[in-house]
Formats: sequence, C-alpha cells, structure tokens
Amino acid sequence: MSPLHQSPSEKPGERTLAVNPFYGEADPTAGMTDAPPKHRLPDSPLPPTTAYQLVHDELMLDGNSRLNLATFVTTWMEPQAGVLMAECRDKNMIDKDEYPRTAELERRCVAMLADLWNAPDPSAAVGCSTTGSSEACMLAGMALKRRWMKKNADRYPSPEARPNLVMGVNVQVCWEKFCNFWEVEARQVPMEGDRFHLDPAAAAELCDENTIGVVGILGSTFDGSYEPIAELCAALDGLQERTGLDIPVHVDGASGAMVAPFLDPDLVWDFRLPRVASVNTSGHKYGLVYPGVGWVLWRTADALPDELVFHVNYLGGDMPTFALNFSRPGAQVVAQYYTFLRLGREGYRAVQQATRDVARGLAERIEALGDFQLLTRGDELPVFAFTTAPDVKAYDVFDVSRRLRERGWLVPAYTFPAHRQDLAVLRVVCRNGFSSDLGELLIEDLNRLLPELRRQPHPFTRDRDAATGFHH
Ligand SMILES: *Cc1c(COP(=O)(O)O)cnc(C)c1O
Repeated sequence: MSPLHQSPSEKPGERTLAVNPFYGEADPTAGMTDAPPKHRLPDSPLPPTTAYQLVHDELMLDGNSRLNLATFVTTWMEPQAGVLMAECRDKNMIDKDEYPRTAELERRCVAMLADLWNAPDPSAAVGCSTTGSSEACMLAGMALKRRWMKKNADRYPSPEARPNLVMGVNVQVCWEKFCNFWEVEARQVPMEGDRFHLDPAAAAELCDENTIGVVGILGSTFDGSYEPIAELCAALDGLQERTGLDIPVHVDGASGAMVAPFLDPDLVWDFRLPRVASVNTSGHKYGLVYPGVGWVLWRTADALPDELVFHVNYLGGDMPTFALNFSRPGAQVVAQYYTFLRLGREGYRAVQQATRDVARGLAERIEALGDFQLLTRGDELPVFAFTTAPDVKAYDVFDVSRRLRERGWLVPAYTFPAHRQDLAVLRVVCRNGFSSDLGELLIEDLNRLLPELRRQPHPFTRDRDAATGFHH
C-alpha cells in the first residue's frame, strides 16, 4: 500500500518483524524479545547493526535492476560517480549561498545543454535542473500557460477562454498530470493504423486561440519512436500563415534529447527550429545519472515569464530559481556534471551507439524467432516494441511477459491507447549496462519458453488491463 493511501494500521496480533538471534549483538536473546512492530513507531531504539540488517534483509526481495527491461532510468554508474554522490549527499541544491560550487556546476550543465541543443545564443538560453522530466514538464507547461494568459489578458479568465494543450495520445502520464493540476484541457491526437505517435497535421487541426502550446515527444515511451518535430513545426507555421495563431512547441526529450544529439546529429528537432520554445530531458535516463535529476531549458529568457521566477540569496547577491520543490539533493546535479566531463560528446556517442546496437541486434533476433512482429526496431530510442504474429493464437504478449518474469526478466506487456486499443505489445528498453551478452541470455530464455507457449490451448490472460510492470 502506498503512503498516500490509507496507512496500514497494526492489527491486533499482527506479526512483528522477525529478528535473527544473531542480530542481538552482545546478547543474542535480546533481539528475540525486542522485535519491533512494522507499522507503528517502535517504543525503543535498536542498535544500528540490527536496524541495518533488518532493512537490508527486507530489500533483498526488490528486483535485480540490471534485468529490468521496463525502465528508462539509469541503473548503473561508475564507482567514481557513486563516491562523488556520497560526498554530496548532505548538499541542498536550493542553498546556493552555502554551496556556491554546486550551484556553479548546475549552471555549467545548463550551458552545456543549451549548446548541445543548438540554442541560437547559448548565453541567452535559461534553464534549471529539476528532480526529473515530470517536474521539468510541469515548469515548461506553466511557462506556456502563463505566456498564453498574458497574451490573452483581455479574455482570460472567462468561460470561453479555457486553455488547452495539444499532444499525442501517447504522451507520458506527466502531461496528463500537468493538465489536471494546472487546469488545462488536454487535447490528444489519437493513434491511427500504423501511426503510433503524433500526426503534425492532426495536431495543427486541434489548435485554436486557446492553445497554449503543442508537445512533441522525442522518444515516445510506447514504442521508442521519435515524433516528427520539424514537420510539427512546419504544420504550425502553415497554421500561422492561415490564421495568425502563433503556437509554441515544447519538446519532451526525456529520453531522446540525450540520444539524438549524439547519434542523429542531422535530425533537426531542437532549438534550431524557431518554434521550439523549450526542451526538457531526464538526466537520469539517457543522461546516464542515477534517479533524481532532470533539466528544462527555454530558448530565451522571453520564453519564461519573469513572474514565475523566484529569487534566492546567493553570496549576498540574487539567484533566480524556478522549481516546484524547495529543498532537494545536490548530488545528482554533481553526478550529471561528472558524467558530462567524463564522457564528453565522443564518450556519449560511444555509449549511446553501443546501446542502440544492442537494441537493434536484439530486435532482429526477436523478429527472426518467427512468432513476433516488430512495431519499431530500436533505431531511434534504443527501445523497441513488438507483438505476436497474426497466426499466433495459443498465447499472447501477456503470457510472454509473465513467463519471462519466471526467469527474472521484466519485460512489460500493455495495450495501446485510442484508437489502437486492439493492439497489445511487449517493450524492451535497452540501457547502458544491458550488454549484448545479457541480450543473448534473454533470447535463450525466449527460445526455451516458446515451445511451451505454443502448446498452450489458448492465451491464459484474463485481465488485459492489468499491465505487467509499469511501462512509462
Ligand atoms: C520518463 C518520461 C517522462 C517523465 O520523466 P521522469 O524523469 O521519470 O519524471 C516524461 N516524458 C517522457 C517522454 C518520458 O519518457
């Protein structure tokens, strides 16, 4: 039960934590009598070794993150990065006055990203670190909404002026959150046939005078495909010529903004497009840092209304900040700077290329098994989705996911949204640390399972909506 739900109160007679007699350091029998309760603050303290061992033991049942092919989030960093992060775990990112060097590293990261994403004048771009892309998207969405409000001050608020945001139905859940929390109508372009992401013309058609912006995704989480950002901007240029509506684009590059610059330098998706007002990424996805860091940048200070910016004291001076949180750890920002410094452009290219090679190779091997059809091939994000071939009737993708789980692999299966709810897929996310050797083991396991799956009388899945493993 998650903490937000009603708390699991202790029932009379409920078991306390079991304590191994060895854990009662000096007196092995003491631990037996002092077993702490699980859902109530214990009355008395425990020795640190006992407390450590109890927590450690319980966590053994968490999954093995390297076998998790569901998540985009970094599960391995170099030991040096771990050391730096440990050195910085007491640093509070918001306290720019106390930790001016950490603040400086954040600024350097923003400048590096402005350059990487081709801001016309990197020194004019503004940006900040966040806890991840979700917070980054909230900030970008707020800036879009506030810009629209200012432009429409004569009409807003009024019942006719309800702001909307246009996006594909394949957006990550954070955009639904943004629209819900900030009272913006989410206008979603459905999937159609073999198109599993945003269609530029359909997006332009959904825009009107209340549209605060259009979100394009560089790297759809559903299948790893890049949305056509340049075509989207062109469609909106056409809309402006026809109607005068000037609608900004935000690029959600949670994954792709740290892949495309290195592997697809000719793909124009970033600040080279004048209509792109802002871009976000997750430092903790293909930015290659442990969870807890994202980035959002605006093309120029004009794109970020000044009244959203708060000012904190910085060495007696003034430091602008834009964030939902106040206090948060500085370690992830330091780790991002370390990784930028450590890899450079060529290092990032090598790491991402290796990951894409693993994804493409694995997709081909899966296609060659004969039972599956690829939706994507791992050649945009190192991510691919596949479904069962039309003649496969004995089992479905949910059966495959469940059986792979028996072998320790987490490969989620899920149904697609409107209008392709008929389609259910498996998705593999390749990350640095998932080697071609591990990929080989996955294929071996699939090969071992397939004869059994083919012998099933029918798919065993009862509830297709109970997706196996989170997939965003
Ligand atoms: C992962 C993801 C998000 C959310 O990012 P977090 O860093 O997990 O908060 C948003 N958009 C896209 C496209 C994503 O892939």
